[in-house]
Amino acid sequence: MWLDSHCHLSADAFAEDREEVIARAVAAGVEAFVAIGSGYGIAENERALALAASEPRVVATVGVHPHEADALDDAGRARIESWLGAGSVVAVGECGLDYHYMHSPREAQREALAWQLSLARERDLPVSIHVRGDEPDAFGELLDLWRAEGRGALRGVLHCYTGTLPFARRAIEEGLWVSFSGILTFKRDRGLRDVARGLPLERLLVETDAPLLAPEGFRGGRNEPARLPVVGETLARVHGLPVEEVARATADNARALFRMPS
Ligand SMILES: [Zn+2]
Ligand SMILES: [Zn+2]
Repeated sequence: MWLDSHCHLSADAFAEDREEVIARAVAAGVEAFVAIGSGYGIAENERALALAASEPRVVATVGVHPHEADALDDAGRARIESWLGAGSVVAVGECGLDYHYMHSPREAQREALAWQLSLARERDLPVSIHVRGDEPDAFGELLDLWRAEGRGALRGVLHCYTGTLPFARRAIEEGLWVSFSGILTFKRDRGLRDVARGLPLERLLVETDAPLLAPEGFRGGRNEPARLPVVGETLARVHGLPVEEVARATADNARALFRMPS
């Protein structure tokens, strides 16, 4: 059984058929879902909370995506702090730095991330991290902020990982897990499968990031959590392990990180 450690199940893309999407995923062997609250405006975090309250297989995260970092104000901070108290919330995020698209100014992204990291430390919650961009170096800045705000007490996951092997190894030493999405399955994977091969299975998670990032064979269309096994089967092949073992390990890893009961 699989666990989708990062999907946007409350997105509008699933407004028409959300129940069928969840049912298809369950039929495909996906037993639980981490619904990411951020990415659609701060107010929309509430939709992930509502979904988690009504769906026993779904837990939620709450946060501010780097794309919307410049929209974070005192009212937004207060709302996020109060939502974090809900029982179905397992993590802060997704938050991070995206210097590839730079939809928010760099300084606003850094401030929003620093605030969320300190909040996660205060609340003893893990963090779902989005990091992208080489110029300036989002990965290096992320680890600097992680150390400064976390003071060794933070844990979290680099979601949809596309960075290098040395960086992933450093991140793991600093209390992070690494999650792979459909990008791992792309014909032109830019060396990502070699990165996955070089990392220990006990620190790896899998995700769909649905409705984005449909895996090879489904590219261009809406992605959904039922495709998670395609990602996991690729990871199993890369590690030369039985698919069932990778399913169990990645689900156990996610449950441990997010402190989800089995
Ligand atoms: Zn992301
Ligand atoms: Zn996402």
